[in-house]
Parts: sequence; structure tokens; C-alpha cells
Amino acid sequence: MDNPICPACYSDTAEIPLEGIKYYQCTFCKHSFADLSSEKKKKIIKRFIFKNTDRDTGLFDPLYLFNGNKDIIKMATSEMIGKNKVIVSNCNYKTKKYTLNRFDINPEDDAFKRILDSHMEIKCDSLLSVCFIPFCDDVYNFITSCYKQIPKNGKLIFLTNNINNFLHNNIGQTHHFTAQSLHYILSSQQKNYKVFSIKNILGFKMYGT
Ligand SMILES: [Zn+2]
Repeated sequence: MDNPICPACYSDTAEIPLEGIKYYQCTFCKHSFADLSSEKKKKIIKRFIFKNTDRDTGLFDPLYLFNGNKDIIKMATSEMIGKNKVIVSNCNYKTKKYTLNRFDINPEDDAFKRILDSHMEIKCDSLLSVCFIPFCDDVYNFITSCYKQIPKNGKLIFLTNNINNFLHNNIGQTHHFTAQSLHYILSSQQKNYKVFSIKNILGFKMYGT
């Protein structure tokens, strides 16, 4: 078998085709991930960004695509600490307290990479990433990059995806996490973390040391 191994727990995977994209699902922790060489995946993601970008504000909000809602954002932001709070997104949550980046879509470039890059130099006390991590090919790099932005005792909060069956809710993401796959990914970071779910959205917290 020459399927790629699970990026979370390194177990074997089985192929699951979805809307023309090849996905693999871990036979052990049930983490699912897209065939990264797929041009189709990029096109499907781009289509979702275009379809879900607010025409007036230019804001794209992946949370709702994972069946999230405003209550979840309220709960997540209420846990943020310190003076400088940053949300990795270009979402408008109708509050002036957070740093928001306006975002222009250019079909030629990698939209998600640009959203993330635009936040990577910002130092903050706490950082919230709202459902962007499922779109990152390199999850480990994303977590490490975010971690560098917070001080000792700072806090990271990541919302990932909904905990329902992803086969019915694929929006072109690279990764679909499970609580178990998150544990594998996070324990390898050797930091303090906690996996949680708010309503039907899966997430995790990490603390600066
Ligand atoms: Zn696995």
C-alpha cells in the first residue's frame, strides 16, 4: 500500500474520494486529509472563498462553513487574555477590540497562506484562530508560527472544524481533525494544551511557557 501515513499519529490510511478530490482517512485516529498534490483541491477552496466573501467588506469567514455561529466566537473571545488580542482571520465580529485584517482576494495566489502570513509578525497576549487551520497544509508549522507570537503566560485558542461527519461537510479543507488526532498533533509540540469543543466546533488551547 502506498497511501501516505497519517500526519497526526503516523498510522496507515484508507482512501476516500470526495467531489473529485482524493482524501485519506487514518484507520486509527480518523484524521482525514486531502491529497496535497491535487490542483482540484485548490480550485474548490478558491470557489468557496469567492462564494463566501462579503462583497461590501471583503471579509471571508470560514467559521460558518463549519456550521459555527456567533455564540461560539463570543465564548472563544471571552477566554482571550491580556491587552493585545489578535484574531487570525479577516473576520468582522463587530467589535473594535481585536486586530482585524482586511483581505482582498486575488485568484492567482494562495489566499490562506496570505491570511496567515499577514498575522505572523504580530506580537500579542492572546491569539484566536477561527477555523483557518483546516486549510493549512502544514499544520505543525502553523501552530509553531502562532506560538511564537505569544509571551510567557500568553494564550492561543484555535477553532478547527465541526465534529460532525466531514463526508457531509467537506468545504475543500486540507485537514479534518478529530479530538484524537488533535491530541497526537499537540502532544508532539511538548506544550501545555487542552482540546475542547464549543457546541459542534472542535478546538484547542495552548499556553505560552
Ligand atoms: Zn491518525
